[in-house]
Amino acid sequence: MGRNGHGRRVVLGVTGGIAAYKAVEVCRRLVDAGVHVVPVMTEDAKRFIGEVTLSALASEPVRSSMWNESEVIPHTHLGQTADLILVAPATARFLASYTHGISDGLLTATVLATRAPVMVCPAMHTEMWEHPAIKDNLALLVSRGVHVVAPERGRLAGGDIGAGRLADPESIVTAVLALLDSDRESAGDSDHHGATAHYGATAKTGDLTGISVLISAGGTREPIDPVRVLTNRSSGRQGHALAEAALDRGAAVTLVTTTDRPVPSGIEVVRVDTAAQMLEAMSSAFLVADVVVMAAAVSDFRPKVVSDLKLSKGDGLPDLVLEPTPDILSMLTGRRHPGQVMVGFAAETHDVIDRAAAKLAAKGLDMIVANDVSAPGTGFDHETNAVTIISADGSRKDVALASKRLVADAVLDSVITRLMSQTLGASGGGAIADPDSRSNQ
Ligand code: C5P
Repeated sequence: MGRNGHGRRVVLGVTGGIAAYKAVEVCRRLVDAGVHVVPVMTEDAKRFIGEVTLSALASEPVRSSMWNESEVIPHTHLGQTADLILVAPATARFLASYTHGISDGLLTATVLATRAPVMVCPAMHTEMWEHPAIKDNLALLVSRGVHVVAPERGRLAGGDIGAGRLADPESIVTAVLALLDSDRESAGDSDHHGATAHYGATAKTGDLTGISVLISAGGTREPIDPVRVLTNRSSGRQGHALAEAALDRGAAVTLVTTTDRPVPSGIEVVRVDTAAQMLEAMSSAFLVADVVVMAAAVSDFRPKVVSDLKLSKGDGLPDLVLEPTPDILSMLTGRRHPGQVMVGFAAETHDVIDRAAAKLAAKGLDMIVANDVSAPGTGFDHETNAVTIISADGSRKDVALASKRLVADAVLDSVITRLMSQTLGASGGGAIADPDSRSNQ
């Protein structure tokens, strides 16, 4: 996927926090990537950095007032002509005004008067970042589709160390370019997705930047003899679609698959056959994964004894004794580290929701994707799927019949919501696009 911003117009909003000086670096990197940057500063931001610094880098005058600009209605003009509005740093006051629709200056008016995607990069002292008012405001913004690049832990103004430091400029620019890319792709794809896209509004947003995702795909093959296997109808399409969607959204992806489907470069692939091999491959990748999505159809049984020689008719009916395979997901959830998000799939033909919910509990998962494989156009060997995503808190999300790629994006959106609630619920700082989380990859 291309990562350049040529021909794209980004309004860079800078609010009044000490991290404003980092907006200079963000501006320079965006300009280097070919983006046309239009800087907007609040009055308080000007206390931290000079207008001329941003206007010189962007080759654009800094806008900051509703009243003395050459445009008659500057906020609507800025909002309508932007491909994206980025606010870095975003102070607590800006976030509160934006959340509650208070148009108290050019920047808040601009984010309220646009249909372009908006990305905010909060930066503030740890006590503020952890305040319920900030958490609630951010959760509301996220639920409205606003993109958040979470702050990192580190040294703050005054020498304190904690969560709340602006994400580093490189991560911010990576997230911006990914979002611009995904926007361009989905504009080009709109006819194709239009008919069945009941879901997908927030798809492919670069919102998994810095997150490590481990995915399994395909049906395992358990040998009976050198030529025969015990397997199932899984095509691996849903797992591969998940891996591609996660990659497009900026994640570091490891895919453990039983299929020989082509995989885009950038995804680390491990090809396996049996449940035992899948367990081994997943066990090591699991240690560094932030998110595990177990989309593979793992055989529940395997022959207890594998014949070295091909069984033949002349020998009579084989004495096929089966034993259970390891339950990979249950074994992994038993070893999970704090904050790791675990997602399972449940392919069912009857009592779909009840059976899936029981598996969610039995396997200790954060969510399970229930799949009625007997319904038309869904499940194994189809290009399309329809699922219900059930979360551990009991909430459910139905995804109507759509391409497996759209279903993949819906699952990843639920994963993001889960990561985000952990980020906002824990004092330890961000999991979404949080550069800190890269250190454990
Ligand atoms: O128990 P059941 O196979 O119905 O559960 C489905 C979920 O558990 C899927 O996510 C599947 O990949 C996973 N699973 C597993 N190891 C098994 C069997 C299933 O991880 N042996």
